[in-house]
Amino acid sequence: MTAKKLPSHTSDVPTQAKPRNIWTKLILTISFALFSAYYILGVDPSSLCHHFGHNQVKGTCPQPAHGLLPEKHRLIHDTLLKEYKTPEFLLETVQAISGAVQIPTESGDNYGVVGEDPRWVVFGSFHAYLKKQYPLLHSTLALTKVNTYGLVYLWPGTNAELKPLVLVAHQDVVPVNPDTVDQWEHPPYSGFFDGKLVWGRGSIDDKSGLIAVLTAVEGLIKQGFQPARPILITSGFDEECSGRQGAQKIVEYLLETYGKDSLAMVIDEGGGFAEQYGTHVAMPNVGEKGYTDVKVSVDVPGGHSSIPPTHSAIGILADLIYTIEANTFKPLLSKTSSVHDTVQCIAEHAPDSFSKKLRRTLARGSLEKATKLLLEEYPHFLPLLRTTTAVDVVSGGVKANALPENAHALVNHRVSIDSSIGEVQTYYKHLLKPLAGKYNLSLSAFEDHPSVNAPKRALTLSQGTPFTTEPIPKAPTFGSSPWDVLAGSIVSSFESFRPGNDSILVIPSMSTGNTDARYYGDLTKSIYRYVHRDAGKDTNRLGGVHTVNEALPVKSLVEMIAFFTTLILNADESTSL
Ligand SMILES: [Zn+2]
Repeated sequence: MTAKKLPSHTSDVPTQAKPRNIWTKLILTISFALFSAYYILGVDPSSLCHHFGHNQVKGTCPQPAHGLLPEKHRLIHDTLLKEYKTPEFLLETVQAISGAVQIPTESGDNYGVVGEDPRWVVFGSFHAYLKKQYPLLHSTLALTKVNTYGLVYLWPGTNAELKPLVLVAHQDVVPVNPDTVDQWEHPPYSGFFDGKLVWGRGSIDDKSGLIAVLTAVEGLIKQGFQPARPILITSGFDEECSGRQGAQKIVEYLLETYGKDSLAMVIDEGGGFAEQYGTHVAMPNVGEKGYTDVKVSVDVPGGHSSIPPTHSAIGILADLIYTIEANTFKPLLSKTSSVHDTVQCIAEHAPDSFSKKLRRTLARGSLEKATKLLLEEYPHFLPLLRTTTAVDVVSGGVKANALPENAHALVNHRVSIDSSIGEVQTYYKHLLKPLAGKYNLSLSAFEDHPSVNAPKRALTLSQGTPFTTEPIPKAPTFGSSPWDVLAGSIVSSFESFRPGNDSILVIPSMSTGNTDARYYGDLTKSIYRYVHRDAGKDTNRLGGVHTVNEALPVKSLVEMIAFFTTLILNADESTSL
């Protein structure tokens, strides 16, 4: 890509004293450059000493100077990329994703154990479809089925010393709400192709990811590629309901087979690229927020509602909920968060997206003030900067003339990358203790073994569901080999479909939700959530993911296939992964 020049902003700098001689002039020039970098552009001068690789531009957010292309296997790469741009390949891609969408591999929160609940059986049909669709892959790669429907494909490398590249995509989809079927422009499991979009549940999330990876591998085998670095393709079947039967079991298998820290890098579903901040921006998610549900439960003696107390269990619970919502977690753009990287990158490469005041505040490192300004200019950053609070379930009372003995609520928290589930629990203890006193309730907070003889008036705080995940720390970014391979592959894939002047920024980001990647932390620190899906100009449109009218532009899927092809070849040739 074209190196972006740092803007000069000369009007912002104070007038310099007239230099007396050449040395004074030189010193003043250097000081001035560092001053400008630090106070105006938000560039930490110390960082200018780093990241000066031949492929990178200086700054806190170095960008690949050009896309990364394989050298040894360039012919295979170029042959495949050429094929991907043909109308015949586009139609083959339509057929592949449409066929996958037509098999309703739903997974629901209330599904039982594999082998007992018959609703999982449809995944067998999906496996048969994949086998038919990708014959070379199935005759070349070794397939291990984990917990019946979890897929682990191994493409052995010729160099067993190299750590495997792992590509992750889930097979399951969010169930279609039967009440909303008539709101779909084309039926949710039709896989209908309207000449541009393929319609249906899973067309984006995440069958596009799975089909992209499998198609890339099928093409590489057809071209005679034999990897030096082992490649693993793993596919869970219950990502949409926690991944505990799929990804969690797959990771247990990988840990048994390969051991801790045994993988080169993991790529899972996640960010794509879009037209934003006056340019094209690719945002691989390098961190993941944590997840926990807290149950807030009030027990009081019941009774006849003709002689009620001032506050019933429901009234007390209402006060507790009000207090929780009135005291949400404070947002902070902390330096350890990947959101800080996102913001620094925008300030450096798309400075006009931020006010001058925000850029200066960022450069000074006044994080609390920068947080406030950032949220004024871009409110959508709020959930990324704090632990979120959402009261999602409330329950209490069964009859109009009976006082309820219990009322409870479930509160969902997406835990900030700088925080922990322990911090969330401490917050609850401090916040609700005064209310327990006010209503004369004995407080039990997150106790492993709650007492059997529970008091009659009690406020009990506990983990509300078994779904709980600590935040996943930030993966390596600038200056690390996995990031360089990823970013370089993004740039070359992007440019390949837009010959000319278009360029793309690659900046680290963070996901607000969780993916199957949450389980892979013991296998590698280099976990990236990115699929190279083109979100176009409208970054708010999620393409119907998790709701009605999910649909994928097939051209976007072709680009995803090209991206995975390039990434596989680049990772194979990297000597430092
Ligand atoms: Zn997904």
